[in-house]
Amino acid sequence: MRNSRVLISGAGIAGETLAYWLARHGFRPTIVERAAGLRRGGQGVDVRERAIEVIERMGLTAQVRSAAADVLGMRFVDADGRRRGEVDMARIKERIGSDEVEIMRGDLVRLLHDANGGTVEYLFGESISALEPDSDGVTAEFERAGRRRFDLVVGADGLHSTVRRLVFGPEQRFVRHLDHYFAFGDADPALGPDRWVTVYNTPGAMAGVYRSGSHPQAKAYLAFRSPRREFDPREPAAARRALTERFGKDPAWHVAQLLESVLADDEMYFDALAQVHLPSWASGRVVLIGDAAHCASPVSGGGAELALTGAYRLADELAAADGDHEQAFPRYERAHRPSVGRRQRIGPNLRLLVPKTRAGIAIRNTLTRLPVLESMAGMERIMAPRNTEPLTTARTDTTP
Ligand SMILES: Cc1cc2nc3c(=O)[nH]c(=O)nc-3n(C[C@H](O)[C@H](O)[C@H](O)COP(=O)(O)OP(=O)(O)OC[C@H]3O[C@@H](n4cnc5c(N)ncnc54)[C@H](O)[C@@H]3O)c2cc1C
Repeated sequence: MRNSRVLISGAGIAGETLAYWLARHGFRPTIVERAAGLRRGGQGVDVRERAIEVIERMGLTAQVRSAAADVLGMRFVDADGRRRGEVDMARIKERIGSDEVEIMRGDLVRLLHDANGGTVEYLFGESISALEPDSDGVTAEFERAGRRRFDLVVGADGLHSTVRRLVFGPEQRFVRHLDHYFAFGDADPALGPDRWVTVYNTPGAMAGVYRSGSHPQAKAYLAFRSPRREFDPREPAAARRALTERFGKDPAWHVAQLLESVLADDEMYFDALAQVHLPSWASGRVVLIGDAAHCASPVSGGGAELALTGAYRLADELAAADGDHEQAFPRYERAHRPSVGRRQRIGPNLRLLVPKTRAGIAIRNTLTRLPVLESMAGMERIMAPRNTEPLTTARTDTTP
């Protein structure tokens, strides 16, 4: 096998899935993850369409289904916590015969990681600081572990990818801000009913609590409209300041407790709502997958699906080309681009979740009561273009 030593930056959904399939195909993957351990943050993510097939091929269907978040839908409340609207997503999914699974992001990453036991080398608490590609391979310099040689390098390190910055250029060239910031953190389960996402809105902002059926704990979810700001959202002090500024004076519903929970969570996740658009995901021996290549944003509902299917396709193309990246990388990109294009077209989700005005909030709530919104959501699911392209290109099915 040519090019068997593959360095993957990022132990998220994309990185873990790629490592699994590369190891199965006979490559030797190493994952470098900046965090000290797996990042368990985030709330529910959707495993849908072809991603269900990837999970099936990994033999993880039973585990993923039994860890499903089991959320029924979303309820909208007023400042006193009175219900003003509701969208029953479970009913919609049943009506349209959907077999997708919603699972806590941390649970999915843990399941994928456990499937890699013994076959993948991990470097936790570490990051690539420089990459020097040449005709035979790539020399990677790490922040602590010195220099090592690899044949190929894959950036699976998310929206703010270091590999992308080092090889493709500064983030501002590729990241499109969607005029919102959002945060997730652990919350007190008493703040919302079991199996529902409960949401309170003010114009341009939302505070919510996500109660999964399979988890004793809950997740706080805060989001607000804002043009891009001149700070790094991953910097905890800046994130805490921005959230306190926006939600700190709101006495309504459980906003104060949700803010407090997010600020108290060491693994709080705060970021800009953004998408990544690149003309090409490969440069020489370096290639990008998952959010690093094509983040569609959490409101797309497609991040996990694209991470799973993209990782699978890249491993499959590398195996089919016997490790020849010059053949495999363009094939991976051709096979995966159509799905990405569809998921990056965001429908009305964001406007419904964070209406801009009081009138917008009232209209949204009225629609849910009629129940126009439920029919709209059902119709949207039925009409939305589906990602039905096969996981493997016609000439190959290299699944070992
Ligand atoms: C903590 C967290 C919570 C999230 N919560 C949600 C959510 O609730 N809903 C939703 O739709 N999406 C969420 N997302 C985004 C979602 O996971 C992705 O859209 C999707 O799953 C694609 O995953 P990915 O593996 O490409 O990227 P990510 O899930 O972002 O994973 C990237 C990984 O790379 C690591 N990393 C970053 N920089 C470096 C570096 N320099 N060196 C090494 N490793 C690095 C990160 O720590 C992370 O583990 C979350 C992401 C994270 C990291």
